[in-house]
Amino acid sequence: MSTPTREIRLAARPHGEPKPTDFELAEVELPDPGEDQVLIRNTFMSVDPYMRGRMNDVKSYTPPFQLGAALDGGAVGEVVASNAEGLAVGDVVVHQLGWREHAVLAGKHVRKVDADGIPESAFLGVLGMPGLTAYAGLLDVAGLKDGDVVFVSGAAGAVGSLAGQIAKLRGHTVIGSAGSAEKVAHLRDDLGFDQAFNYKDGSVTEQLVAAAPDGIDVYFDNVGGDHLEAAIDAFNLHGRAALCGMISNYNATEPNPAPRNMMTLVGKRITLRGFIVTDHGARVKDLIAEVAPAVADGRIQFRETVREGLENAPQAFIDLLRGANTGKMVVKL
Ligand code: NDP
Repeated sequence: MSTPTREIRLAARPHGEPKPTDFELAEVELPDPGEDQVLIRNTFMSVDPYMRGRMNDVKSYTPPFQLGAALDGGAVGEVVASNAEGLAVGDVVVHQLGWREHAVLAGKHVRKVDADGIPESAFLGVLGMPGLTAYAGLLDVAGLKDGDVVFVSGAAGAVGSLAGQIAKLRGHTVIGSAGSAEKVAHLRDDLGFDQAFNYKDGSVTEQLVAAAPDGIDVYFDNVGGDHLEAAIDAFNLHGRAALCGMISNYNATEPNPAPRNMMTLVGKRITLRGFIVTDHGARVKDLIAEVAPAVADGRIQFRETVREGLENAPQAFIDLLRGANTGKMVVKL
C-alpha cells in the first residue's frame, strides 16, 4: 500500500529573482517504509535563503538541486509508520526531506525532538539550523568576548534575530540593520537591540557610524556587499567578522563588487572568517541548554512568518528573498 502525496520540484533554474514558474507541484505515490525506515507526515517545512544557491548549476558546499526533481530542506513532522528502532508512531522528528507532504527515509537520518511545551516549528528556527548558525557563528567563529560591540545585519531574520539576542543576553552592546521601519522598531522594542537602522534609508556606512560612534568589534554578516564594506570601516583594531551569508548577492546576475576598503583589514588587523553550520553540529547541545530555557522564560523571543499549504511554498521562498518575513519563514503543511 503506497501513500499518495505531493512534492515541489524545480522546473527551471531561476535567472535573477525566482519566479513561480521555476517550480512545479507534483503528485506522487510514496512506497511503504522498508527495513529501518520511517514514514513521516510533515507538519512544517523550512524555507531558507541558502536554497537559492542550490538552484544554480554550480559547484558549492552542497550539491545543486536537479531539474525535475523534488527540492529538499529542513522539515518537522510526525512519524506515521515505523520500521526503525527507537522511532515510534506519534514521535515528532526533524529531518531534511521538506518540500513534500510525506517522506520516507532511514531512521538514522531522522532526529527525534522533545516538543513538550515548545512549538514544533521552533525546531526549524530558533532551536534548529538557524539557531545553531547564530550560536556557533557568534561564539565560535567570531569569538565573542567581554566588552565586544556587536553589529548584526539581516537582524530581523531567523539567524540575525537570535545572534543579536544572544549577544544582548551576554551583556553586549548590539546594533542591528534590517529593511523596514517595522523591523527596526521590532529590533529595538521587542528584541532589546541598543541601536537599529533601516539600510534602505541611506548609506549603510553613515548609519553604522552614527549607531556605533565608538566602533564595532564583531560583525555577524548575513548580507555582504555594502554592509560588509561598512563594517570594515567601523571596525576597531582586531575586529572579527563571522561571514554567515551574503543575501544581497543571491539573486544577482553579475558578481557583486567586493568591498572597496580591503586595505583597511591590514591596518586594523581584522579577521573575516566564513563558516558553514554543518561543521558545528557538536554545539547543538549547548544551543539547546542555553537558548531553550531563555526561549521558555521569554528572555529570547522568536517570531515566525507562517505560510499555509505546500502549494504556497514557492511564493514563500520568493518572498523570503524579498524580505517579507520577520523571524523564521516556515510553511505549515
Ligand atoms: P532571514 O530570516 O534573515 O531572511 C532573509 C532576509 O534577508 C529577508 O527577510 C530580508 O530582510 C533580508 N534581505 C533580503 N535581501 C536583502 C538585501 N539585498 N540586503 C539586505 N538584506 C536582505 O534568513 P536566515 O536567517 O535563514 O538567513 C540569514 C543569512 O544566513 C542568509 O545569508 C543565509 O544564507 C545565511 N545562512 C548561513 C548559514 C551558514 O551555514 N553559513 C546557515 C543558515 C543561514 P530585510 O527586510 O531586512 O531586507
